Amino acid sequence: MLTGGTVVLPTGEVPGGQVAVDGRRIAERAPEGADVLDVTGHWVVPGFVDLHNHGGGGAAFSGGAEAALTAVRTHREHGTTTLVASTVTDDLDVLARQAGILAELAEQGDIAGVHFEGPFISPCRKGAHSEALLRDPDPAEVRKLVDAARGHAKMVTLATELPGGLDSVRLLAEHGVIAAVGHTDASYEQTVAAIDAGATVATHLFNAMPPIGHRDPGPITALLEDGRVTVELINDGTHLHPAALQLAFHHAGAGRVAFITDAMDAAGSADGRYLLGPLEVEVQGGVARLVEGGSIAGSTLTLDRAFRRAVTVDGLPVADVVRALSANPARLLGMADRVGSLEPGKDADLVLLDADFALKGVMRRGEWVITPQLP
Ligand SMILES: [Zn+2]
Repeated sequence: MLTGGTVVLPTGEVPGGQVAVDGRRIAERAPEGADVLDVTGHWVVPGFVDLHNHGGGGAAFSGGAEAALTAVRTHREHGTTTLVASTVTDDLDVLARQAGILAELAEQGDIAGVHFEGPFISPCRKGAHSEALLRDPDPAEVRKLVDAARGHAKMVTLATELPGGLDSVRLLAEHGVIAAVGHTDASYEQTVAAIDAGATVATHLFNAMPPIGHRDPGPITALLEDGRVTVELINDGTHLHPAALQLAFHHAGAGRVAFITDAMDAAGSADGRYLLGPLEVEVQGGVARLVEGGSIAGSTLTLDRAFRRAVTVDGLPVADVVRALSANPARLLGMADRVGSLEPGKDADLVLLDADFALKGVMRRGEWVITPQLP
């Protein structure tokens, strides 16, 4: 039983609130003889849900089961209690093999599923993806990857303007897999068509897509204005100017934003040389760039830092930040009955933050991942 903290519920902030935990779930009231932990002066918020994450702790989700578990553990220690593992562009057979390994981790409950970023993306907006391995989104090949994840494919990022793009979006929508518009060179009109075909997410809005022009409003305008789309934002201070973040938040509203990390291996680890899929990356001062060409290559962000920045630098209301970090991505994943808010019956996934929004504790499914050391 946690008492005394400010608990953030879907209905608002409750100062001096309580959260009762029974086994792995949040309960209406604490079981008889439960330990009581006084967390006065702290925020109690739902565990974070990351839709887009390539790795952390020096390990990548494309690097096999052991590496994937290292990445999961690293992000869990930073408050991410539900995580979708992202792959990067590679050979289809290599990706299918990685998906099989990740599907096993999803079956064990270690991750929430798989996100394929590439290879069906635009060479004009490839970012840190290997150009030689890019291909048009052939629905049969999209299907092959989805099948390789054995029911655990959650999202595929596509340049929907490429040949086969719209058919692939329809195929994904039919299979209950999120079609995400990203690494795209689409026009405004082409993006509207993709949304009408069933695309519901913008992969890291603003990054790896054409900017807004007043005669050529581009994909960003189409993705922001349509109520069916949730926009991913990487709030690390490097990927987006704070004003661009505000613009997205104001247009989409707090119900349609998901903060993601797009983290690579160096998240929760040191500067130095890493691999992102097959490409070499140099991390300096926490900023990851391709050795060749210098493109930004994912982030070293963790979601506790995204939270803190959103409140202390961007000035967003705590309740809105909680939606962008937990409730919205949980809903997108179809997991809102289990995670994403602190309500009885849901998994006891929660994060404890101090008055300065520094992380002080993490609980997942009723067990402390980071045990709070309170005075
Ligand atoms: Zn990514």
